[in-house]
Amino acid sequence: MRAAVLQAWRAPLAIETLDDPAPPPGGVVLRVLACGVCRSDWHAWTGADPDVILPHVPGHEFCGEVVAVGPGVTR
Ligand SMILES: [Zn+2]
Repeated sequence: MRAAVLQAWRAPLAIETLDDPAPPPGGVVLRVLACGVCRSDWHAWTGADPDVILPHVPGHEFCGEVVAVGPGVTR
């Protein structure tokens, strides 16, 4: 998959090819159709969010199409 990756704080994102994810138990894989960028992403970009570890693919306000389903998903 292609992704915009944060490799260093306050640096431009790099468009990279990453391994395709596998759906975890109880989860799914989405083909992202659109993704918002918010102030939380900006805080991550600056390095101010201690939960963000590099490299990091920003974006948590997305929508998409389910393309794979993990074990235990029933609906
Ligand atoms: Zn947000």
